[in-house]
Amino acid sequence: MLVYFIGTGGSEGIPAHLCTCPTCSEARKLGFAQRLPSTLAIITENRRAVLFDVGTDIRDVLNVPLEAIFLTHWHHDHIYGLYKLRWMALQTPLYAPQGHADALILRDPKNLRPTKIEAGQVLKVDSLKITALALNHEIETLGYLIEEDGRSIALLYDTKGLPQETRELLERKNLRLAIVDATYPPGFDDPYHNSVDEGAETGLQLAERTVLSHISHKNLPFLELTDYVRKRWGNKVLVAYDGMVFYV
Ligand SMILES: [Zn+2]
Ligand SMILES: [Zn+2]
Ligand SMILES: [Zn+2]
Repeated sequence: MLVYFIGTGGSEGIPAHLCTCPTCSEARKLGFAQRLPSTLAIITENRRAVLFDVGTDIRDVLNVPLEAIFLTHWHHDHIYGLYKLRWMALQTPLYAPQGHADALILRDPKNLRPTKIEAGQVLKVDSLKITALALNHEIETLGYLIEEDGRSIALLYDTKGLPQETRELLERKNLRLAIVDATYPPGFDDPYHNSVDEGAETGLQLAERTVLSHISHKNLPFLELTDYVRKRWGNKVLVAYDGMVFYV
């Protein structure tokens, strides 16, 4: 499978409108430091696409039929793009947790076909086996274990650490890749999101490689952040950027 990072930012995106913080100022100078809200696609070995969260409009970057759309949760930065995408010309399954579901989308889903999904449920989508995982966030939130031909990755945002049952399940899996919440800078403590150190430590315990994502403008500027991560963890931990592609 191929993992396509379409959006790797937090709610506000980077640069945040009119913000003059160091992270946003750098991103106005360096295009690669700009981030859209969370949006990730998996391209399967059969060249089919599955979308995880829709934090932005995807039509310019992924204009193909979607086998399914999975939501991690209903916070707005993970669903913005759905309001427009629901007009797509093909009926498409939308799997999402029930907590805080968006009333407008459920009342008027257009060509989306919403189905509730809970932690522990397993679905087959094309060549992928997808297991929903419990995460620690402000509202009901699911991570996903995604397996294809014995290779596996985990998508772990938005979360602060991991619930015990999720950690135990993933420890048995020999993950190639963990994509982990790293919203805040080192040393920052938040009840609902990881700092960079917390995100990296979570991934290092579970996977060969870790990619830090869901990065807020409150985090370090891009170049400083990649320096910090490289010096501490070498190439075992990477910082996601919009447009990044990872082969598994
Ligand atoms: Zn979020
Ligand atoms: Zn800013
Ligand atoms: Zn959230």
